Amino acid sequence: MQDLGEALLRLAMRHSPVGMMVTSPGGVMLAVNEAAGEMLGYAHDELVGARWQDITHPDDLAIDVDLVEATLAGERASYRLSKRYVRKDGEVLWGDLSVALLRDDDGTPLHFISQILDVTEQRAAAERIVEANATIEKQSRTVAAIYDAVDVGLVLIDRSGRYEQMNRRHRDFMTLAYPEGHHGMAGQTGEVYEADGETPMARSDLPSHRASMGDEFDDVRLWVGSDPATRRALSVSARSTRHPDGTLAGAALAYKDVTDFMRALAVKDEFVASVSHELRTPLTSVLGHLEILVGRQDLPADVRAQLAVVDRNAARLEMLVSDLLYVAQEADATLQVQRVSADVAQVVRDACEAALPLAATARVGLAADLPDSLVAMCDPSRMRQVVDNLVSNGLKYTDAGGEVQVTLRTVEDRMELQVSDTGIGIAPAEVDRLFSRFYRADVERVRITAGTGLGLNIVRSIVHACGGEIRVDSEVGVGSTFTVRIPLVVPEDA
Ligand code: ADP
Repeated sequence: MQDLGEALLRLAMRHSPVGMMVTSPGGVMLAVNEAAGEMLGYAHDELVGARWQDITHPDDLAIDVDLVEATLAGERASYRLSKRYVRKDGEVLWGDLSVALLRDDDGTPLHFISQILDVTEQRAAAERIVEANATIEKQSRTVAAIYDAVDVGLVLIDRSGRYEQMNRRHRDFMTLAYPEGHHGMAGQTGEVYEADGETPMARSDLPSHRASMGDEFDDVRLWVGSDPATRRALSVSARSTRHPDGTLAGAALAYKDVTDFMRALAVKDEFVASVSHELRTPLTSVLGHLEILVGRQDLPADVRAQLAVVDRNAARLEMLVSDLLYVAQEADATLQVQRVSADVAQVVRDACEAALPLAATARVGLAADLPDSLVAMCDPSRMRQVVDNLVSNGLKYTDAGGEVQVTLRTVEDRMELQVSDTGIGIAPAEVDRLFSRFYRADVERVRITAGTGLGLNIVRSIVHACGGEIRVDSEVGVGSTFTVRIPLVVPEDA
């Protein structure tokens, strides 16, 4: 029986993928299988005769010794322990150890049979998971802190428009917008007003509603709250969020407080309006008297020449004042255009001729490619303003030796005016802002050139009022082309 048992044990040890050893009660390793030797980095017979205590990690020795003693004392028949071994190469091996004590028929301890499973990889993986969890937790704490500390209202909504998350800053805005409370769904109307601060914002225009429909946008301006002392102006941006498979998950919205900016804009508008009004009356008087003076026959030639300079500059001042006046009213008035039957080709021709002296001074070529006549229903003085502005910009922002080319033609049911130059060009990032009031590019050439940054804004308003559109194609250092297309309305009697 004993022999059979031993033979079986030897067989099991030889073939087992698990490390196995037989040790004396005192710790001497009597038999070590190949799997155990390999695990510990020894040839298996190298370990025979050595003590397991010598290959145990010092920190785990005491606990193992205690368990061995308890087993020998009969307090337990076997034990299991996760412990560290020190391999021959000095590396640490984590083993899942199961030990059973074999006794003879009298109960005298014979030897221990130990099985060791290498769990080093598992332990390392578990440790990595613990570390990763700690990192994730730390990062999410940081993100949450930033999320609540930023000066921008942040909101996350799901596909159905339900508010999933919002930061502290946004809760303040919500209190202003919904003093009666908010139901947690996008599209709730409340004390939310359009950029004019007065028109209640319709549900379909609310940023949260638009974003929940998948709309993406920037700088949508609105006011929240009705109390002039506490209401805030916000600029809202929205971006769609997507699931990993690309389907729409909802949207993220950012609400930036732009109250100070909006108030400054309003002050600027009021200032511009009052200044231009104040300037207009004396200027009209100056121009009237100039006209009378210039009409006199008894003026010496040098006085007449000086008067011409005064007249030219007064006329320019008048143009600036009328631009300012228009810009000041633009917020609440749409630009008036009066359509009459007129020859647009003649209007453009006159504008080009009038610009020739400026072109000569700038030493920039000015060429026009126009039909003999293009009679259409239009506002000739407004059209003139458009051509004047585009041509004078072309001349102002082109170096000596360059070219400005003006083209007028009909394209299908539209008339197309193109003003191209070989000038300084406009950076792609600036193109969208060109038409904003008071916008001037931040480049040396523009800084040293007289201008108000109003011309293109007025041009665009005129073009829009005529039902048309304007676009710019430009490359820095190569030149710019402004293209205006306006529906062609042919007079009935033409
Ligand atoms: P202003 O010419 O009085 O500054 P505009 O509204 O006419 O104002 O033009 C706004 C800005 O657009 C200019 O200051 C300039 O930076 C840029 N711009 C306009 N036209 C051109 C052009 N043809 N080439 C390059 N930049 C231009």
